[in-house]
Formats: sequence, C-alpha cells, structure tokens
Amino acid sequence: MIELEGLTKRYGEKVAVRDLTFTVRPGIVTGFLGPNGAGKSTTMRMILGLDHPTAGDVRIDGTHYDRLQDPLTYIGALLEAKGVHPGRSAYNHLLCLAQSNGIPERRVHEVLDAVGLTAVARKKAKGFSLGMGQRLGIAAALLGDPRILMFDEPVNGLDPEGIHWIRTLMKSLAAQGRTVFVSSHLMSEMALTAEHLVVIGQGRLLADTSMADFIARNSRSYVRVRSPQRELLLDVLHREGSPPCRAGTGRWRWTAGRRSGSGSWRPGGRWCCTS
Ligand code: ADP
Ligand code: MG
Repeated sequence: MIELEGLTKRYGEKVAVRDLTFTVRPGIVTGFLGPNGAGKSTTMRMILGLDHPTAGDVRIDGTHYDRLQDPLTYIGALLEAKGVHPGRSAYNHLLCLAQSNGIPERRVHEVLDAVGLTAVARKKAKGFSLGMGQRLGIAAALLGDPRILMFDEPVNGLDPEGIHWIRTLMKSLAAQGRTVFVSSHLMSEMALTAEHLVVIGQGRLLADTSMADFIARNSRSYVRVRSPQRELLLDVLHREGSPPCRAGTGRWRWTAGRRSGSGSWRPGGRWCCTS
C-alpha cells in the first residue's frame, strides 16, 4: 500500500503538490490522472524519497522509502527521466542494480526475458529506441519482484504494440495482487487500464474514486427512442422521470437518468425522443 497524508511540495513560490491525501491499494491498477504540470511526477518522486515534502507524509507499507531495507524488493518504479548510463549494456545496468539490492543474478535474466530484451541484452543502452528504453526501465522496476509498482507516463511516445504490451503488463501485475500506480495525462488511456482513479489538477486532489463511478458522474448518456405508440411512450417516460419537453417538431427530450457505477439507472441524464 502507498499512503499519502497531506503531502505538499513547494518550489519557491510555486506549490507543485498541495495537501494530497489518498491511499493506493493492492490488487488493482490505480490511475493517476492530471494535465501536464499537475504535480504527478513530483508526487511520485516524493513517494520514492527523491524529493522531500515541504509538508505531509508518504509511507510504503507503513514505512518511509529511505527506511526500507533493499527498497527494490518493496517498490519498483519507472519514472519519466531515465537513469541509464548510455555506455552500459542492458544486462550490466540490471546487474548493477541487482548486486546493490541483494537480488540474485538469475533475476536479471528473468526480467530481461519478461520485457522481451534478451536478444539485445549485451547492447549498449545508447542505441536503444524509446520503446526499448521503456522496457529496460520496466525490467529494472520488476527486478526485485516488488509488491508495489509505480509507472510515470509509461506509454508516452510508444508505438501501438508497446502501448498494448504495457497495458497488459500492468493489468496482469495487479491481477497477481500487486499494487500498481500509473500516471497519465490522458483520460482515454486511464479508462483502458485503471480500475481506480486519482485525479489531480494544479497539485490539488480533484477525485479519488472507482473508474466506473468517475465515468458515470462525468459523462451523459443519451438514448434516442422512436415508437409508433408515441402517446404511450410519452406517458411511460413521464412517469419514469421529469416531464418531457418539446425539442423541435415531433421531437421530445427528457432529463431522466443515467447509468450509475453499480449499473442502476439514476436521475440526472437525458433521454431524447424523435417521432
Ligand atoms: P506533471 O508530472 O503532472 O506534469 P510535475 O510534477 O512535473 O507535473 O510538475 C508540477 C509543477 O511543479 C510544474 O508547474 C513544474 O513546473 C513544477 N516543478 C516540478 N519540478 C520542479 C523543480 N525541480 N523546480 C521548480 N519547479 C518544479
Ligand atoms: Mg510528469
């Protein structure tokens, strides 16, 4: 579990992250959505102890990152900035990380295989494409077989095959019971991957809710109906929701209901009838 409590970060006058309190739970993919500059990367850096909070607290399984022994075995992360020495091979990069974290060499082979880099494992990272670099970053995140994984904008700049691979990987990691926290500035991407959603804007928490509920609350459902029994239909809809109003010749519109997260129909949406 990742727990944030009142997490705040100022850079001079600029408040990058403001009083964030939420929990990232295991067994599901939690999306972290916000426009560029919202504070997603700053939050993730604070989770990893790479940036110190101005106020508030963040804990990983109840402990601060810098107090974790062999942290890669608790939490693995792919951040936007890549920390790979360009002259080092993929294999040697991972081996250094493994040796400094008490992880057996066998695991290096396993993660190279898992991300599909075995064939280029001895090649220098400077010759890697963006997609290969992302795969190497993910291999590093998986190295310690951690229960918590965090990915900062992992699909940025990837080709469709790479995007599909990352989506599938994140879902399968969550299905194994791991905590998966992934950021994006694209709602469409989050809708395809995340089951739970944390939304921030200008450093503030805007929503912390299930994906289904977020979509139900923020979208309208329209149903267009044609019927030879217009009067009967008008009657039924009248009883179901608010009174229909005329919207042009032979057309009616109802504010009647929309689908809630649990699948039930609830007031607030709009029905449209053309006859
Ligand atoms: P996101 O990842 O959501 O795009 P960031 O966390 O990178 O957002 O940035 C949040 C805000 O904090 C931005 O306005 C950014 O310019 C500012 N910021 C981030 N890092 C620094 C820094 N090291 N120094 C000054 N301002 C920063
Ligand atoms: Mg960012």
